[in-house]
Amino acid sequence: MNRTTTMPTLFDCTRDDLARHLDGHPRYRVDQIFQALYREFKFPAEITTIPLGLRTTLESTLPTALEYVTESVSDDGSTVKFLWQLDGGSRIETVLMLYPDRSTVCVSTQAGCAMGCGFCATGQAGFTRHLSSGEIIEQVVRAARRAHELGRRVSNLVYMGMGEPLANEDAVWASLERVHDDIGISARHLTVSTVGIVPGIQRLAERPLPVNLAVSLHAANDTLRNELVPINRRYPLAVLIQACGHYLEQKGRRLTFEWALISDVNDRTQDALELADLCRSLRIPAHVNLIPLNPTPGYLVQGSSRQRVQEFCSHLQSLGVNATIRRNRGTDIAAACGQLAAGRSVKITSRRS
Ligand code: SAH
Ligand code: SF4
Repeated sequence: MNRTTTMPTLFDCTRDDLARHLDGHPRYRVDQIFQALYREFKFPAEITTIPLGLRTTLESTLPTALEYVTESVSDDGSTVKFLWQLDGGSRIETVLMLYPDRSTVCVSTQAGCAMGCGFCATGQAGFTRHLSSGEIIEQVVRAARRAHELGRRVSNLVYMGMGEPLANEDAVWASLERVHDDIGISARHLTVSTVGIVPGIQRLAERPLPVNLAVSLHAANDTLRNELVPINRRYPLAVLIQACGHYLEQKGRRLTFEWALISDVNDRTQDALELADLCRSLRIPAHVNLIPLNPTPGYLVQGSSRQRVQEFCSHLQSLGVNATIRRNRGTDIAAACGQLAAGRSVKITSRRS
């Protein structure tokens, strides 16, 4: 258990933790409970395979961590953003995206974020605290429960919600392991997105699962990246790219660079050329995911126009880079990349696209 507050919650418990907690009960109870929690997405009161007394004990001694506050559903119903309140009062968000061919959950790993990227609503709100593994896992379980009610199965998980996953690597790793082992999502469908915390990338490289790594690059020279992503001053591009190369060698997975396109800041010809060089410098060429910058209240610079996004993408492709444009989900409910601020955001007025 690695909870940041003293009381462990239900989803913080590993099988061994639960076995210790249920001391005196037969071991198969742990398997029944794990089956119900992680395959059927039931809460203790609903687990009819175990005796009523045990259900009640579980409820009172191992509470859940997320208190439901509200949810927003996009106009077409395919994106749901949940708002939860944590112990201590912080609020976080989880997004469920239903595509025709897959369902993806996007989880938060911290309440707020300390990295201070100016274009990101989470960064604008500052850091409150780390989430425990249980608080991360419970987001997946609750989103999977909703998907299940809609006749869908969660197939993919991305760590791209509020917070910097690799600044909270222990809890993130514990959650990855549980999601992989107990919910049964394979490593190729698990993606951790990082702003470039080099020690975190190194630690994740030593972990046994080959999960996908996405690095939020946004600039391919240190001068611009220092400005857009302040943590670049601590872990400059050369060091970051070296860590990415090591990760690729360890895992044999393709790396993704995320690039939020900001008009006249990082969408120029020169930016495409620099980015293409950087992609080619890795032994396994990186994939580039272009994200049209989503509007946030505290950042007045505009995202690139649709046409510019398309041109930038084509230019990269002509340079031999595997680049795609991310389908933007949930801008109408401020659930898209960088817009998660747990209800703190004011009305967004400068929507493009
Ligand atoms: N902290 C991690 C993961 C959460 S942010 C990271 O930075 O990678 C998830 C993604 O949204 C990152 O790629 C981030 O750069 C991007 N993002 C942040 N603000 C954005 C915005 N306003 N528009 C588009 N993408 C944004
Ligand atoms: Fe934090 Fe990622 Fe937002 Fe930067 S982009 S402030 S690292 S959540």
